[in-house]
Amino acid sequence: MPSALPLPAVRDDLVGVEPYGAPQIEVPHLLNVNENPFPPSPALVADLGAAVSAAAGALNRYPDREFLDLRRDLADFLAEESDARGLLPEQLWAANGSNEIMQQLFQAYGGPGRSALSFAPHYSMYPEYARDTFTGWIAADRGPAPDFALDAATATAAIAEHRPAIVLLTSPNNPTGTALDLDVVRAAARAQGEHRGLLIVDEAYGEFRRDGVPSALTILAEHPNLVVTRTMSKAFALAGARLGYLAADPAVVDAVRVVRLPYHLSAATQAVARTALAHRTELLGQVALLRTERDALAEHLRDRGHDVAPSDSNFILYRAFADRHDVWQRLLDQGVLIREVGPAGWLRVSVGTPEDNAAFRRALETADPVPAATAAPSDP
Ligand SMILES: *Cc1c(COP(=O)(O)O)cnc(C)c1O
Repeated sequence: MPSALPLPAVRDDLVGVEPYGAPQIEVPHLLNVNENPFPPSPALVADLGAAVSAAAGALNRYPDREFLDLRRDLADFLAEESDARGLLPEQLWAANGSNEIMQQLFQAYGGPGRSALSFAPHYSMYPEYARDTFTGWIAADRGPAPDFALDAATATAAIAEHRPAIVLLTSPNNPTGTALDLDVVRAAARAQGEHRGLLIVDEAYGEFRRDGVPSALTILAEHPNLVVTRTMSKAFALAGARLGYLAADPAVVDAVRVVRLPYHLSAATQAVARTALAHRTELLGQVALLRTERDALAEHLRDRGHDVAPSDSNFILYRAFADRHDVWQRLLDQGVLIREVGPAGWLRVSVGTPEDNAAFRRALETADPVPAATAAPSDP
């Protein structure tokens, strides 16, 4: 719209910056944002509808600002899922996706003159939480491909060098799929403790970890500066409802309660989340199948000769043979949307239904054919 007046001046550091987000394209096989591919059953849809209807009758009132019922339900779920016993509702907190949880933690513990540290390749939103809260951002490196492991020595050396207010570890990591050893979490929590820093362990994909891999929730009681974040967007098959949460010392929750916007969690969201938690057996029922599909897909990619990062998650990072953007486009042309993310040359594919995964394998044959075997060196 033409106007005689100049546009208002946006913050200098936001000039020309595009909003973050994976492309939302309508294709048959959506394997790009690590959603659970199974929609809720008709019975669950009916229950969710009834819960929202009940909440609707009181929408003239602001919602329960402390939502202790939901926080108690979340504590019960974590006791069951991760053997995190004895968590009090006062140790849980929820928001509109774990992205909002992270922003609240940065608001409370970051800020001008403070910095946050993570290890690349890391989730692409982390630097944005820092930017949006005027927190300095530092990215150290994880170990080399294809394992992208992070060890305690690397983590503690970076912490000692930078003394950040916030350290973000991700287990399993996005985009690599790598789970963390609890010794690394313990070492990082101790190193952060030396300068009163916070340690966040982002377990957005925690429910997909392989058997025998423990959650950082099990050592929460040992470390008052440890926060574990979770989400209902991935394993819980509820990305559309926007519910993320954290577990931590009650003092951390109290700090977050200071910066949260008033009534941030709508009555409809609270009703949906509590209903979904009551149906957790059904919602999480497909996790075992997705894990099996993940392991089969990783093996298939390795058999084709790709480098594949070991995954405890519901996605796989692997190295393409051909130019990664060309491969991504040729897969999309066949109705399969995956993600161009991670180190140059690598692609990330979410684990879908068995049909989705079969479609991906078929499309890959022409999108990224196995290179002809290089001739074996002849005997001298
Ligand atoms: C998907 C994801 C999240 C959270 O997403 P929400 O939908 O906001 O809960 C957090 N961390 C990582 C690493 C993720 O991949």
